Amino acid sequence: MVEFIPSVDKILRDELHKLGGIADAMRADPMLAGFSVTDRVISERDPEPVAAASHLLDHSKKQPLVHFSGKGRDIEDLRSFLVRIRENGLENVLFVTGDRLKDTPNDGRRSRYLESVAAIHAARQASPDLLIATAVNPFKYREEDMMAQYLKLGKKLAAGADYAICQIGFDIRKYEEALLWVKERRYGIPLVANVLPLSVGRARYIRKHNLAGVTVTDSIMSLLEAEERLMADKGAANVTHRLALQILGLRLCGYAGVQITGLHSAEKLSSLQVKVEELSQRCVDWTTWNKAWEDSLRLPDGSSAEPAPGNNPWFFVGPRGGRLPVAQRMKFRAMKRLHRAMFDRGVGAFVLRLLLKPIKRRAMLDRLLERLERGIKSPLFGCETCGMCRLAATQYVCPETCPKGLANGACGGTSENLCEFGDRECIHSVKYRIAREMGILAELEAWIIPSVPKSWRGTSSWPPYLRREAPRIYKSDFRRGERKPGGADYGVAQPE
Ligand code: SF4
Repeated sequence: MVEFIPSVDKILRDELHKLGGIADAMRADPMLAGFSVTDRVISERDPEPVAAASHLLDHSKKQPLVHFSGKGRDIEDLRSFLVRIRENGLENVLFVTGDRLKDTPNDGRRSRYLESVAAIHAARQASPDLLIATAVNPFKYREEDMMAQYLKLGKKLAAGADYAICQIGFDIRKYEEALLWVKERRYGIPLVANVLPLSVGRARYIRKHNLAGVTVTDSIMSLLEAEERLMADKGAANVTHRLALQILGLRLCGYAGVQITGLHSAEKLSSLQVKVEELSQRCVDWTTWNKAWEDSLRLPDGSSAEPAPGNNPWFFVGPRGGRLPVAQRMKFRAMKRLHRAMFDRGVGAFVLRLLLKPIKRRAMLDRLLERLERGIKSPLFGCETCGMCRLAATQYVCPETCPKGLANGACGGTSENLCEFGDRECIHSVKYRIAREMGILAELEAWIIPSVPKSWRGTSSWPPYLRREAPRIYKSDFRRGERKPGGADYGVAQPE
């Protein structure tokens, strides 16, 4: 696939016109699967991808992959997107939560994100015939944020995704690791890799802007800068050579295809294809390919540039981390017991049910309860009274303490367990440590947590929970052949 980024800063018609040559090539070449049209990459004011995708479908005669980002969106936005997809005869979609919003509300309200897991599930229910892609980022180098990614992939597949696209990366061991995870867990899906011609200018941009989830190490930077300094073409030929090698390596190790970012002309696409073909004659197996890859990363001093960070990077086959702090272990156990006694099957639950069940949302008593709930749970968990408490399904770590409000798992923006927003440890790394210690990792892989309806926010979650009105957590088991749960068991909650 060839990526196209609609941008508010460019005239869409002109940009689409420039892609004409690629569209012509795409029509004729069975190796080119279609365009991949992004959503809200440059800004939240970018033109929506459906119009561009529809144009590219007309010209290339191949179904494009249309992205939907959850940034600043809710379930209603998704529903209208799906209507437009259908109206335009589009069939392939990719759902992502999206990176940090650039424009934030200036009235003090926090920004909201529609989680990819919820979006996938709602889309699968509404349009069973869609081909749905999801994203995974294997380029994480701490056990917690890496495992949080892999486990969340399980949820996305259970929600209805058909295949996954890896984030842009350069570390072949991580590409192999993602394949290993998919095989180990018997997910049975193809993986596609997002690749980029990494020029020195792009590498500088990625590092300067901390592009969420993309790792360009000091060592790779040194290689690109040395090439810029020492070579007549400033390293341009090596950039294409490495990209072609990477594509070939991905094919050799079992990737189903690539999505190419940052390639905008038919000539460049054609010379890349020629290069891949040429290299495939020389690198006939994994051994010869590895040697060529190592050579392509050779620094002027003879050492190899390293795509993984230097500070003891973690790989799937490596050792697992240490023990959970005693205080966190005790808190989890205490909260679990309390939850069971008060909201599940204890005497407390029976009494509470009698007392609280009749209280309607936003009634006077509900307002008092909401204050009480916030007073108790805010110091303990950072509660914002979302109206649909999910603590029992999130290892007693409140999803509202994630700046994007994600309950189902980590976004792709972590770096060494640090949140994309840079001000805290990613809450899903914390959840992973608790789940690992308590032997409940399956919850992170298989429990699909519905999104909170907008109109429920700012109300108490207790009466609806006790009335069994709150949307159910869907507990999937795709390894028993269950990939597309659907039905009434779990849905994105409807407002009252
Ligand atoms: S807490 Fe984790 S999931 Fe939430 S925004 Fe930060 S990095 Fe992303």
